[in-house]
Amino acid sequence: MGAFPLISHLLVGLVVITTCYANLISELKQYAYTRSGSQNEEVTDKQNNGLLIPIPREVSDWPVIPLPFLGQISGVSINLQGHPVIFHRGKRVWEDSSFNSSFIFQKQNEGAIKDDTILTLDRSSGVVIESWGANTFYLPHGLTVDHEGFIWVTDVALHQVFKFSPHDKKAVLTLGEAFTPGTDIQHFCMPTSTAIASDGQFFIADGYCNKRILKYDTNGHVTRVYPQEYEYLSFSTPHSLALLEDHDTLCVADRENMRVVCVDAELHYKPVRVNDQQALSIHASDLGRVFAISSLGELLFAVNGPTASIPVQGFTLSPYRETILHSWAPISGHLENPHDIAISPNGTELYVVEISPNRIWKFQTSQWVNLFKYTYAYMPLEK
Ligand code: ZN
Repeated sequence: MGAFPLISHLLVGLVVITTCYANLISELKQYAYTRSGSQNEEVTDKQNNGLLIPIPREVSDWPVIPLPFLGQISGVSINLQGHPVIFHRGKRVWEDSSFNSSFIFQKQNEGAIKDDTILTLDRSSGVVIESWGANTFYLPHGLTVDHEGFIWVTDVALHQVFKFSPHDKKAVLTLGEAFTPGTDIQHFCMPTSTAIASDGQFFIADGYCNKRILKYDTNGHVTRVYPQEYEYLSFSTPHSLALLEDHDTLCVADRENMRVVCVDAELHYKPVRVNDQQALSIHASDLGRVFAISSLGELLFAVNGPTASIPVQGFTLSPYRETILHSWAPISGHLENPHDIAISPNGTELYVVEISPNRIWKFQTSQWVNLFKYTYAYMPLEK
């Protein structure tokens, strides 16, 4: 072989390598350009969308005087006057021995809780302005004040759900059979939470054992059970409900699945339901076991409970972006076992109640922040 073919081969090889290198550089530049271009577009787009979120700040001097004795506080909601209403268990405590393996309450012979279990606190001072609900409940769980002021509660020992008149505190609706768990639609098994639409349709999370959501029409008839057999959806302790009524969406704190799931609430007739079976899900590693949620427009406010080494804190969530937007916590102490959360309809006041220690936190949300001014990941915990 002569020298020329060898040089020729070397030259060809050099050209090929150089061309490949140039292509690689070009591709890298293109990649970098595309990435930065798309990121800029994304930020601009989100700024234009202007997603403002309220930042909860603890009101450390509330209540102004210590509250009377409170047992485990399982529920909180905000009434039509803007005052928080709480549901607590008095001297009764949920223990391992409270239920047998068939979910039958074992302390029935101790009678109903003798203390007033439902307390309305003044929004400004935290002083008790009304209390009732003695000798009625055995193991309180969820409480929701609806748009007309009616108070809906669930009792996991009674396996029942009640709707009370705000005036005479008489039950105007009782669902389920006392102390009798069951799987048909006339019975519940440790129901946890309720959500009521402004037209009177309502939802019950049922609950610790049946792991389903029942939907009712305005006459109290079951019209839907979530999930249906054909739906690719399952709950593991649906523990709290929140209705995003403007968006016809029902969200569920799916506690032991460590997520929030949102489904079509089907409040309004739609000729074609394109979202059937397409649940939204917020399932992030920081979220842990989600105990409770409360809605504000298209946002959700949530609290988690102890989950391995994950911090116990509050979250601001976007169901439609399926993401955590922000996490928050009190300033003067730590959340330990938060069990329920409620935000006022105008988004200015937020309450979190806890079980062991039994206490209530108040937050104000006077500062609103355009989230995407900072980042499109969620903001870290602010102390
Ligand atoms: Zn609970």
